[in-house]
Amino acid sequence: MSYLVDKDGYYGEFGGAYVPEILHQCVENLQKEYLKVIESESFQKEYNQLLRDYVGRPSPLYYANRLSEKYGARIYLKREDLNHTGAHKINNTVGQILIARHMGKTRIIAETGAGQHGVATATVCALMNMQCVVYMGATDVKRQHINVEKMKMLGATVVPVESGNKTLKDATNEAIRDWCCHPSDTFYIIGSTVGPHPYPDMVARLQSVISKEIKEQIMEKEGRDYPDYLMACVGGGSNAGGTVYHYIDDERVKIVLAEAGGMGVDSGKTAATIALGQVGILHGAKSYVIQSEDGQIEEPYSISAGLDYPGIGPMHANMAAHRRAQIIPVNDDEAVAAAYELTRLEGIIPALESAHALGALPKMKFRPEDVVVLTVSGRGDKDIETYLNYYNR
Ligand SMILES: *Cc1c(COP(=O)(O)O)cnc(C)c1O
Repeated sequence: MSYLVDKDGYYGEFGGAYVPEILHQCVENLQKEYLKVIESESFQKEYNQLLRDYVGRPSPLYYANRLSEKYGARIYLKREDLNHTGAHKINNTVGQILIARHMGKTRIIAETGAGQHGVATATVCALMNMQCVVYMGATDVKRQHINVEKMKMLGATVVPVESGNKTLKDATNEAIRDWCCHPSDTFYIIGSTVGPHPYPDMVARLQSVISKEIKEQIMEKEGRDYPDYLMACVGGGSNAGGTVYHYIDDERVKIVLAEAGGMGVDSGKTAATIALGQVGILHGAKSYVIQSEDGQIEEPYSISAGLDYPGIGPMHANMAAHRRAQIIPVNDDEAVAAAYELTRLEGIIPALESAHALGALPKMKFRPEDVVVLTVSGRGDKDIETYLNYYNR
């Protein structure tokens, strides 16, 4: 048995492609094409070249000396925060825009919550001279002003979505609606390991460069090509998916994922999908979803906009269901404290999302010889105001 996707697009009971009739053809075409494209020599050549010269890969694997001392293990940080545009998301958008071009598409759409995926998509659209429309909840447009301005400067059209709670879930619905209206010329770039098959697998493969590099880098530093622990934060699951991809069926490697506890799992203000979710269908895939008794999606909450999602990717739902991964909820206060700690111990200001992975460290019991690789998914520049205001409210 493998924890990777099966030939029908499922991870155990999770995944699949539950899409409206009008999108069926589109999704089926993508299912037929994506592996052929990704495995082609011309795609690999261009993708790897862009990852190296444009994104700045390989990202360093940094031995965090003082952090290691504090937690009594050999802790390495995988530095996705050093990528162009400041996070792991660019690995995926570079890959998907190349796939879109291979498939003859001319118009790109995307959804965005905090604006990070929107900026990463607008960036590669500028690079490839493609038309770009980004759907964003009206509430988020107000909250994430700088990212909206960045997308506009990059030449994208940002469409504020006024339906529902005017946040990520509503923006995603609107993007799907757009895709339904323009199936022939439009490619929908999804930002995480969510959505109908093949998106979760496609995004995980495009992010798998993270674990491919970890293998080589840990071999060089530790003389073996695997760590004892892999740790990452999980919103939809793309940085975690990339971090574990090449180790997912290697039981020597323990997987620890941090989800956003918000104000606490039982507080009613949380995004802890694994702790609270029930099996349901969200945005085209079967997974765990935070929902009310009659199946309505509940509004999630987290201090971190990137983890504020009521679902989780099917790959991660399956790992959680079979206890392949340990899922730890980390609350707002624990994440903020962990961000300050990393900043003062190592001189690295992490993104609030990544701070949740760091916030799981105090909950772990390591042996001194344990080798731990923790992915810092992004940098904290976008979160400075939140960090500074947190203790002065
Ligand atoms: C978007 C984002 C996340 C959450 O998304 P995943 O798909 O779960 O990785 C985490 N960290 C950063 C920095 C992000 O921008």
